[in-house]
Amino acid sequence: MKPVVLIVEDEAPLVTMLRYNLEREGFAVDEAANGEEALLRIAERRPDAVLLDWMLPHVSGLEVCRQIRQVPSTRSLPVIMLTARGEEGDRIRGLDSGADDYVVKPFSPNELIARLRAVIRRTQPEPEDGVLRYADLEMNLIAHRAYRAGKAIHLGPTEFRLLRHFTQNPGRVFSREQLLHRVWGHDAELELRTVDVHIRRLRRALNANGGSDLLRTVRSVGYALDSSET
Ligand code: CA
Repeated sequence: MKPVVLIVEDEAPLVTMLRYNLEREGFAVDEAANGEEALLRIAERRPDAVLLDWMLPHVSGLEVCRQIRQVPSTRSLPVIMLTARGEEGDRIRGLDSGADDYVVKPFSPNELIARLRAVIRRTQPEPEDGVLRYADLEMNLIAHRAYRAGKAIHLGPTEFRLLRHFTQNPGRVFSREQLLHRVWGHDAELELRTVDVHIRRLRRALNANGGSDLLRTVRSVGYALDSSET
């Protein structure tokens, strides 16, 4: 499933440029040309992140951001403010209004996309006690340790991030491209084979003490954490 980004911007050429770059990087794009429309779009179909222009007709981006933060269902929605202003005071006001990040125009699409991925990653829900559980698997995100059936699993940093991603989305199949984007995060120049290598290591670690294979390989699609099939 592609992450959905809502672009809230009244300058059509900028919207076209953003849409092109985001779609090329594997995002689905939604658009709104002003603040009222943005709030309606968000209520209809909650995006995974919002790119919000500061200078909008009628309601400013700052106000839209405040409104997004006031509604409990959108309080944690990642928001990046786009603006032509570069003043430090404006930056602080932008972040005070609840924006997660701030990008000054003109910006490079690559930098924007890297920031976008970072805010989406940061706002993924985490359990209160920092412990994720699935089947006989337990991950302590604070102590950075993982256990299977009570026994410690030894994971490298990449395998730990991979397992965390799967445990946060149990049963869901991810393609290798999606795993590259979501786990490695940056504009990964890595080959898809790299994903297979780390999946293999993760699987070996998970199965080191026996038990059913929790990682399901979905032929020509990708991988899922799934205890229902062996
Ligand atoms: Ca504008």
